[in-house]
Amino acid sequence: MRKIFLSLLLVLSSFLINAQTIINRDPEIKKMVDEISRDNIEKSVRELVSFHTRHNMSDQDNPTEGIGAAWSWIKNEMSKNIPASEGRLDVKFEDYTVGGKGQRIPHPLHLKNVVATLKGSDTTDGRIIVISAHLDSRAALDNDSTGYAPGANDDGSGVAAILELVRIMSARKFSATIVFIAVSGEEHGLYGAKFMASKAKRENWNIIAMLNNDMIGNSGSSETLLNDNMRIRVFSEGVPAFETEQMAALRKYTSGENDSRARQLARYIKETGERYVEQLNVSLVFRNDRFGRGGDHTPFCQEGFTAVRICEYNENYDRTHKIPALVNGIQEGDLPEYVDYEYVRKNTGLNLATIANLALAPYEPVNCGIVTGGLTNKTTLRWESPSKGVKPAGYYILMRETYQPLWEKKIFVTGNEATLPYSKDNYFFGIQAADNQGHESMAVFPGQVKRQ
Ligand SMILES: [Zn+2]
Repeated sequence: MRKIFLSLLLVLSSFLINAQTIINRDPEIKKMVDEISRDNIEKSVRELVSFHTRHNMSDQDNPTEGIGAAWSWIKNEMSKNIPASEGRLDVKFEDYTVGGKGQRIPHPLHLKNVVATLKGSDTTDGRIIVISAHLDSRAALDNDSTGYAPGANDDGSGVAAILELVRIMSARKFSATIVFIAVSGEEHGLYGAKFMASKAKRENWNIIAMLNNDMIGNSGSSETLLNDNMRIRVFSEGVPAFETEQMAALRKYTSGENDSRARQLARYIKETGERYVEQLNVSLVFRNDRFGRGGDHTPFCQEGFTAVRICEYNENYDRTHKIPALVNGIQEGDLPEYVDYEYVRKNTGLNLATIANLALAPYEPVNCGIVTGGLTNKTTLRWESPSKGVKPAGYYILMRETYQPLWEKKIFVTGNEATLPYSKDNYFFGIQAADNQGHESMAVFPGQVKRQ
């Protein structure tokens, strides 16, 4: 009897230790995710493909073919949502000039990004969330500006997702501002994103997160023939591309090389996305992009912003950057019939859940630190409430063992200090601010505060 009681106690206590805080879905976010239409996404992809090519050096004046027709159509689609936003949505072109002798674009060229800004409902909330995809496409050759370059998946899928997000989110209110961007210039050197990132830096935008969606609709791999539309990658940098001496010193002191802001964002996307989107698992890839490569989030990282790339798990190189043709019985080219629209729908939901939850959440807690000064096997965390935005109802303390990639526990506390019976030597911690509906900020990785 005594033995049974003891083992019961053991089971109970292990349950208590492993118990996670129950986090409810916000029905309003769930509703928005459910509104994402696979048919709309397919229609957008097919419309983008209909412009024949969106090559950066293609025709800008032809109303039905070339990159000019594409950006005008995107701007027009985004603008349709202005009435529903009650004037909060602003849609415009951002023009820039690239190219010159000896460059991949060998002559000066004016290009346009399409930027839709959904202003936050709280005018004192200065936070900005950026979500982008690239509108340009390419075929095999860098300078082939007239050949068929459908770019259905690369990156018609990303642009279609953004159009759907603008449609659904413009009719709702969020505390923070959301900026939806369809950039040009990606295929010739990330020009459109570089322009936006340096503009954001120059104008001091308070970007808390930047999500680059580039190729989110191909579910099968070439060569290895894998097929999976239940898995999506989020790439995030570890040691930041932009790091001051002070940041580097803190990273070394805290062993925080796996806790950059980009990595916190990646973990946030996984947790929030999987909370709202069924049958989708987020695989975090702990590198900035694919091996030796970069994307439109990279210039934002280089300017010191928190930016990640969302990308399909399996790539098909018969489709990417190829002229559509039947070669040895294999259909090559990035054609719309090979996009998995159900997969794009889910990946759009991942974006929506993330940005909605983040845009509704309080600001992050500030001056977060682990209290040091005495030898103890417990950990005391201390932080200050944010001075702007929604007032937090409380805070989540996140923790994981140092070798674990993902947070293992999430504990809700109130006040500005918490002491947990776990050693700071053996665990990493994070702190999130949450409102009374559970919308949480991104996690802040604590530094050190001295015992007073
Ligand atoms: Zn791309």
